[in-house]
Amino acid sequence: MKKLILLITAVLSMSITTAYADTAGYTNISGIALYSDADYTSDVAVKLSLNTRLTIKSENDDWYNVVTQDGLNGWIDKYFVTVPAEKYVINPSESLINIRTSPTTQSKIVGQLNPGEKAKYVDTFHSWHIIEYENNEYYVASWLTDLEYGEAQKVYLLYDNTYIREQPSLDSDVLSEGNRHECYDVVSEKNGWLQVALPYGQTGYVAGWLTTYNQNYSSEGELSYGKTAANLNIRSGPSEMYDKIQTLAEGSDVRVLSSDNGWDKVISSTGVVGWCSGDYLSEAYPLSGKLILLDPGHGGKDPGSISYSGKYEKYVNMEVALKVKAKLESMGAEVALTRTGDYYITNKERGRMADNLNADILLSIHHNSLENKDYFGLSTYYNTIHYKNPDYGYNLAEAIYLNATTVKGVYRDGILDRNYEVLRETNTPAALIEIGFMSNPVEELTIHNESFQNIMAEKIADGIVDYFNNK
Ligand SMILES: [Zn+2]
Repeated sequence: MKKLILLITAVLSMSITTAYADTAGYTNISGIALYSDADYTSDVAVKLSLNTRLTIKSENDDWYNVVTQDGLNGWIDKYFVTVPAEKYVINPSESLINIRTSPTTQSKIVGQLNPGEKAKYVDTFHSWHIIEYENNEYYVASWLTDLEYGEAQKVYLLYDNTYIREQPSLDSDVLSEGNRHECYDVVSEKNGWLQVALPYGQTGYVAGWLTTYNQNYSSEGELSYGKTAANLNIRSGPSEMYDKIQTLAEGSDVRVLSSDNGWDKVISSTGVVGWCSGDYLSEAYPLSGKLILLDPGHGGKDPGSISYSGKYEKYVNMEVALKVKAKLESMGAEVALTRTGDYYITNKERGRMADNLNADILLSIHHNSLENKDYFGLSTYYNTIHYKNPDYGYNLAEAIYLNATTVKGVYRDGILDRNYEVLRETNTPAALIEIGFMSNPVEELTIHNESFQNIMAEKIADGIVDYFNNK
């Protein structure tokens, strides 16, 4: 009899679980639990960072069974995983394109893409596309290739009155306008722009940063923050009928995902998801009590990088720093600036200022440039020399990077250990961000765009919140 029951259970579980051919998905929220079972009351295997790549092995109604890149297996609510459409890298030219072991022209050549040939796209790193080739991951130069979608990818517009343009550039003609929550099918991608289908077989381009793949965005608003006003039970559903998962002590911080009939769906600081009565949650400011020193790079006699069209980096660094300042203040932080106008100050003074003010963190804001105008992407930096605790700088650089690279059309250029004076000359946890390449003619236009700067400021602030939550 016992054997029969086991057999029936096995058949049942097979019928509701769909196997996958190794689809990749990415976490769309930071600090989310990976569970040992498809059940909120099961044990937490690990807390995952934002934008973590997961391999989906199977699914049931609401959960994915996944393996992390460290080989850890577990279950995650589908709601917190965004699965991008399959994309291909195509050789649009008449010549061969080299496939290499690293994102540099000095690295070993392992093969070639023939004219018209395509390979499965994995990601973009340091201005090179990562492709699947002979069961391995290799690199091809992004500026020599095109990116196509194997199936239509749905994107949602983040804002009202979003322009859809004839070409993938901010200086191109406007074809039409779309509004927040509207959905489009993407057919290809170029320089951070998405080519979308319009009525009557037309297509147009929308800036990636004005869109999201995350379908949850259209049903929910933005995250808000709460603090428990009493010891509070978190349950597996929105009423007292559901199982208790955890009791949070009075004064615990939570993030609120949605509300339903007086109950809030929350994520605790340990990554546990559940519902609690909204009556016992008070609004919280996630950065209250924190002092943050922002450093708009360069100034005065030092212009910083000079852009493709001749603009100075020192000005755009200040524009972004002021937007980040406003965002951080709205989250409760006190914010100081290393310079408040266009004057020169040494990097050593900037670093020391963080210690003198007793700031919780220092963030230096910059924009990159290179002689090769093809290069693009966002990088963050930390420094491990002379540090009381080198982890702090890395953790800050990583948290900001993971948030900033969720912006569509912003590509990864790495989290790097660099001996920069502003990071070295301080004992305060410090990081530096290079938001994009001013030397790239397309990315330069993006960098100077006000809506892009606002989105980037928001993501930098979200990264700073994640840093303090994970400290
Ligand atoms: Zn700079």
